[in-house]
Amino acid sequence: MRINLIIDKGLNIDFTKLEFCLNKYSKSIEFKVYENQFQWKEEYIVYPRTHIEIFDTLSQKELNSYINFLFTDVQYINNFFYEGYENLVPFSLFGWDYLTNLPIENGVLFFTVSYLARLLENAENRHYENIGCVYDFLGDKRGIDDAMRQASFCKNCLERLNQEVLTENDEKLLDDLKTLMNLLSTSSKWNKSIYEQTERKPKKMLFKRKAIIKKEINVVIASPGDLIEERELLIDKLERKFRTDKHEEMCKHRLKVHGWEDLASQNGYPQDVINERIIHNMDIVLAIFKHKLGSPTINQETGRERYPSGTAEEILYAIDNKNTDSPLGMIYFYSKPPSPSFEAENYNKLKSEWDRLKAFKQSIGNKVIYKPFTSKEELIELASRDLMINISELYEL
Ligand SMILES: [Zn+2]
Repeated sequence: MRINLIIDKGLNIDFTKLEFCLNKYSKSIEFKVYENQFQWKEEYIVYPRTHIEIFDTLSQKELNSYINFLFTDVQYINNFFYEGYENLVPFSLFGWDYLTNLPIENGVLFFTVSYLARLLENAENRHYENIGCVYDFLGDKRGIDDAMRQASFCKNCLERLNQEVLTENDEKLLDDLKTLMNLLSTSSKWNKSIYEQTERKPKKMLFKRKAIIKKEINVVIASPGDLIEERELLIDKLERKFRTDKHEEMCKHRLKVHGWEDLASQNGYPQDVINERIIHNMDIVLAIFKHKLGSPTINQETGRERYPSGTAEEILYAIDNKNTDSPLGMIYFYSKPPSPSFEAENYNKLKSEWDRLKAFKQSIGNKVIYKPFTSKEELIELASRDLMINISELYEL
């Protein structure tokens, strides 16, 4: 199955590298990557007019190919990412740098796999809210950033696909898509280009961490005040779940979950007490965020702001510290933005809380892998599994 990626020169993509990389990871797809010869006459892409103009210039070989993807920085007049016409799909990567700090070749791979994934389905299933599934509609274009880092089918979509009767060719395509998505998410999570994964060097010996108490991992849940249910669930159920899911057995460590709730009422600036009595004695700080960051912490000597919030201070203690004897940081962000009505009295407050959280998320993007969650049930599943993986890979027995 031949797929052409026709690319505008202005996008600064290395055609040879991209072609090599894509073909290396695909068994049934043959990718051809080359420069676009179509001359743009207008400022915007207008469906279907522009599509028909481009389609008329396609060669016989292109017409006979499975599909032609054209990547450009010319904008759609409706600001969409793409609209398809026959076997031609022009993708607009207009304003890429405002949407994400990931390299543009990762975006090319994202749209390639997400469009091909849609071709596998009989029904048009899309998520109109961004949940980090390859079938997200991405009405909010900034969802592209999480979508590349996640690059996967969500549980529901995968189950649906597994129930569909696929032709042999579609089965092969699905296998290739899974491999390509894996390549995309593994590199994007580390803020790396998909090329770097291809040129992977031999694995460095990983220096393992030592748990503070042997065979036991102590984890503290850090969260601002808008995650009461999620917090309760993790504090009350995570330890038990970790055991019943056999994760304790698999990583050969017992899990103990803590929170500020452990502390007795006492004197002192609360954040300092929490840091000293809890955070500094943990193996892992696991932070969760929903729609706000929380109130700033204050330096008690100068009276000035110390950190943008208590939860921020706790997680930064973990991720800013590169020593393997300081706690490991893990972070989960709720994937849906708040939806306050414009009349709401507290609209401005909600908006500014959300903006502060977004700024914080951006500031840590290069320091830690964070993951989205869509419900408290999904959060506890993810947390239990990720803890098991991290403990097995990163901690000495
Ligand atoms: Zn899905």
